[in-house]
Amino acid sequence: MTSSYQHHATLVNYMYQSKHTVILTGAGMSTESGIPDFRSRSGWWKDIDPLTVATEEALHKNYDLFHEFYSARLKGLGDIKPHKGHFIIAKWEQDGLVQSVATQNVDGLHHEAGSQNVDQLHGSIHSFRCHDCGMKGVKQQFLEKESCSNCGGHFRPNVVLFGEALPDDAWDSALFHIQKADLVIVIGTSLQVYPVSQLPRMTSGKTAFINKEIGSEQSFFDVTIEGSAGEALSVIEQLLNS
Ligand code: NAD
Ligand code: ZN
Repeated sequence: MTSSYQHHATLVNYMYQSKHTVILTGAGMSTESGIPDFRSRSGWWKDIDPLTVATEEALHKNYDLFHEFYSARLKGLGDIKPHKGHFIIAKWEQDGLVQSVATQNVDGLHHEAGSQNVDQLHGSIHSFRCHDCGMKGVKQQFLEKESCSNCGGHFRPNVVLFGEALPDDAWDSALFHIQKADLVIVIGTSLQVYPVSQLPRMTSGKTAFINKEIGSEQSFFDVTIEGSAGEALSVIEQLLNS
């Protein structure tokens, strides 16, 4: 083994020792499937910062822009598939090496790869409701800008917008697992979005961070691996099997 894999090997040891391992993912988990994250580059959508459109304010004040943004994101997901990293995480759950996944991603790729125990902390882009009365809707109603038959309101995806609270059930479940965890592996997130940013500090277990960029603020973690999620998870999977 080359020395460049020492951090991977440390994480493998933590995994062997842990009875309860939680994986926490962000947008960087999905970039290798072809979905851009929010912070690595700017102006990827019509030169508009997505952080200003994925907001409660945009939904209220500029529904047309909000609608265009989420329609574009939905259409962009058309032929997106999970990558090898998603499948490795799903396999680890089957093998009893991972007990749950908490994700900030709304794309559903962990489920699609076969992960069962997934807490979608920021909701899902694949289900819809009327923003005003909460009535359930379907994708077509959103895409065609139909008005709600119950109250005349606007349909929206069930994602958590900036300014909105997280779904209680997903948050409570993620917190339960993180408090129980012997090991939390954080993958592909800038950890800038509250309150998910606090989760890695809410465990008494070991913490690991896998990300393309690692800054000094990540010295908090017991082990860090700088690199792409798919590559790092593949190396760890190989070490687990060697
Ligand atoms: P972010 O864009 O703030 O940060 C992504 C992090 O991942 C960055 O630090 C980047 O360096 C890293 N990264 C990029 N590609 C990587 C790779 N291949 N392997 C490892 N690391 C990689 O994303 P965030 O922290 O998740 O927060 C952004 C918010 O936007 C969240 O609320 C999230 O719900 C939402 N979002 C979701 C999706 C999605 O569902 N796929 C996509 C974009 C944004
Ligand atoms: Zn309604």
